[in-house]
Amino acid sequence: MANRRRNRGADTKNYLCQYQYCDKAFFRKDHLVRHQRQKHGKPFGADSQIVYYCYYEGCGKTFYKMSALERHLSASHSNGNDY
Ligand SMILES: [Zn+2]
Ligand SMILES: [Zn+2]
Repeated sequence: MANRRRNRGADTKNYLCQYQYCDKAFFRKDHLVRHQRQKHGKPFGADSQIVYYCYYEGCGKTFYKMSALERHLSASHSNGNDY
């Protein structure tokens, strides 16, 4: 923790809002996230957390959690499973 000097004149706001048509910028990431929650409803990139896709044809639902996908599978596509 000895070397915490700032770069001289490095007062640039490094955290740019990534939303289109928004050119807000912030010094801190948590400020940016807070701005995005308030102005845009959610932090940018939240959608990219969707990693699980239902593989049934014509469904294509997306889920954040494997458990949610599994629940969806048994709820929506379980017919015929144990037939
Ligand atoms: Zn913004
Ligand atoms: Zn599905």
